Amino acid sequence: MLYTQCRYCARIGPLMCSGTMFPHPTMPLVTTAYGSTCPGCYGVMQLFTCTGCGTPQFLMKLGGSAPAFGAAAGNYAPVVQAKQGASQSMLKELFRAGAKTFMSEAGTDLARSLFGGQSS
Ligand SMILES: [Zn+2]
Ligand SMILES: [Zn+2]
Repeated sequence: MLYTQCRYCARIGPLMCSGTMFPHPTMPLVTTAYGSTCPGCYGVMQLFTCTGCGTPQFLMKLGGSAPAFGAAAGNYAPVVQAKQGASQSMLKELFRAGAKTFMSEAGTDLARSLFGGQSS
């Protein structure tokens, strides 16, 4: 299961697809070489709209490289992989650890601007 955390309201939720190319039963996305991919319709999800605050943002797999165009706007939602049914506190820990790794690898102002506001 892939989970994302909204940059704006910090809501954590699973990445699901119910059909982009054609309708199919809702299923969780998986990580492939192309990004966050739906195993049902093979659509690659790049833009995610938060179900909490409705803000669209780009998905960024932690540990991967960030495409420059969206990063410039700082409009990124981090994505982590976790077991189905993972608790919110487990997920929060994953996001925190992932952001830390990302920052130490990138070590740039970009990383700070992406994750600097999520200290809670
Ligand atoms: Zn799909
Ligand atoms: Zn939100």
